Amino acid sequence: MLKKFLPLSFLFILSLAAVAQKDATVNSKYDPHVLFSPLPYSMESNIYRAASGEPNIGYWQNRADYKITASLNDVTHEITGSVIISYKNNSPQALPFLWLQLDQNLFNKDSRGQSRMPLDSRSRYGDSKSDFNGGYKIASVQIMGDNTTDANYIISDTRMQIRLPKPIAANGDSIKIKIGYAFTLPEEGADRAGILKTINGDIFAVAQWYPRMCVYDDVEGWNTLPYLGAGEFYLEYGDFDVSITVPASHIVVASGVLQNPTEVLTATQIQRLEDAKKSDKVIMIRTEKEVTDPSSRPAGNTLTWHFKMYNARDVSWASSKSFMWDAARINLPSGKTALAMSVYPFEAAGRSKWSRATEYVKGSIENYSKRWYEFPYPVAVNVATNVNGMEYPGIVFCNSKSEGSSLFGVVDHEFGHTWFPMIVGSNERKYGWMDEGFNTFMNGLAKVDFNNGEYNETPRGMDVMAQYEFSDHSEPILTAPDAMKENNISVALYYKPGYGLELLRNQILGPDRFDYAFRTYIQRWAYKHPTPWDFFRTMNNVAGEDLTWFWKEWFIENYKLDQSIVSVDYENNNEANGAVVTIANLDQMAMPVILYYETESGKSGTINLPVEVWNNTNTWKVKLPTTEKLKSVVIDPDKIFPDMNFSNNSWRGE
Ligand SMILES: [Zn+2]
Repeated sequence: MLKKFLPLSFLFILSLAAVAQKDATVNSKYDPHVLFSPLPYSMESNIYRAASGEPNIGYWQNRADYKITASLNDVTHEITGSVIISYKNNSPQALPFLWLQLDQNLFNKDSRGQSRMPLDSRSRYGDSKSDFNGGYKIASVQIMGDNTTDANYIISDTRMQIRLPKPIAANGDSIKIKIGYAFTLPEEGADRAGILKTINGDIFAVAQWYPRMCVYDDVEGWNTLPYLGAGEFYLEYGDFDVSITVPASHIVVASGVLQNPTEVLTATQIQRLEDAKKSDKVIMIRTEKEVTDPSSRPAGNTLTWHFKMYNARDVSWASSKSFMWDAARINLPSGKTALAMSVYPFEAAGRSKWSRATEYVKGSIENYSKRWYEFPYPVAVNVATNVNGMEYPGIVFCNSKSEGSSLFGVVDHEFGHTWFPMIVGSNERKYGWMDEGFNTFMNGLAKVDFNNGEYNETPRGMDVMAQYEFSDHSEPILTAPDAMKENNISVALYYKPGYGLELLRNQILGPDRFDYAFRTYIQRWAYKHPTPWDFFRTMNNVAGEDLTWFWKEWFIENYKLDQSIVSVDYENNNEANGAVVTIANLDQMAMPVILYYETESGKSGTINLPVEVWNNTNTWKVKLPTTEKLKSVVIDPDKIFPDMNFSNNSWRGE
């Protein structure tokens, strides 16, 4: 089209605009063009991932099924195993080689992760002074078929590459790999596995315990980031068939359903488990007294426990002769049920301690199933361990010493991970906030929900929290966990993304629009591999709001907020005409504004301004509908937004 001449009226509008734009001059770092830039995403949509944030028509995902047999030596702490991996290549590329994860190699003294352990302090993920030298001993790697052959493989730190004699064809070809292996379970397994000494025997919490497939996806191809400690896991979905041989005196709990109860449990225990499946009250499966009574275990030297788990990204297990054991039914929205269980040493039993653990498991899972998406597994086991808190599908490890609200908190958090990353299988190693932050957000709601708010606490105001979450030492949420300072992880991956979603829900979208969008995200990406952009796009699309400014300031960049009152003036110097409040946005983050005022006679009111007032300016004038002198005007009186300087948020009349 041709350029038009400007009509006369345009000039008139221009001059009006010049009047309206008499912005106050303030010293502000805020540049609206940076925050509200129209180029939102650093990743384009494509045939695999739609612009709307959902999997597109060409979305594909590979699959890994595992059949694992393993045995535990409770004296040497060695686990010896064999895994058959059935791997299906649904990608459009032929795969001439495979990458697997050998996470146990983190505990090898020469690992990359160990070389990153600080000299002067103990990391959560390891200790530079430890003599422990673990890691996988790989006995054999074979490609199974009509004639099974030894595979050509290399090991690089926590990864194994298998170079195949012929590529696995694209679009659905598959391969079977068999690996024989052993490793010594570390006592401190990066706070994700370990051994807890108790009076009646060690508790072995076993995880990252078999070679697992790296994810091959449409985003990066092979995802081969090494396991260094902070970065968690990115795993394919599949079915698991697991057989674990342990001393007959041990009780084993694992992800999935026990297949052979008559071989490993007593008739009494089987009956009690049946009772628990029908009971909302917690039922003891093995009491404190029975732990030291040999008749609470079948006779024999060793026993093999057989479990099956379907459509999961991982399995873990725990074993001990010290376990007390209780269980109760979980009621799910569809009418289905699952079984909540806890195992713990007698030292951890007690009403304020682990005797309520199963109640927490049940409460947490029933709540999240109602709010977001139904819990998919038949069992949920909570294990008392020396791990502070770690999640696996259908089983979690919590600290045996936790009690009261902290035990509720850790159980609720670890089972909250069922939704992120167990159901929604994001890449934790790169985007830790997509599971920890989302989960922290859900935990905030659960505290209010559980048992009429038994463990609810008044949240601390942002006058305190903002200094902590947005300090000069903080790093952007969208930083890979391993590339973040260890003491920034709790803020950047947990609190800050969690609080961001809370603000989005309660202050920006409202609970109805937020919850619908968040549920849609879970449904769209259940058992799939979303990226941050799939999340951002889904929320924008379903909530019907361009939140790009919010993703940018809160998740991608590390902007700070400083809203302030510049001045309060009465119109024409007469309070009867109402007051005009000039507010300013002084830093690079923008947020809606909550403006509260009180008049001298005691009337009060609140004006809510949308974030759009900051689209093109760093100052704004707001008219208050008052007819008398003002006592005070305050921005964000309840300290909801993370303002770095609340002292410039209020004005008092003289
Ligand atoms: Zn977590």
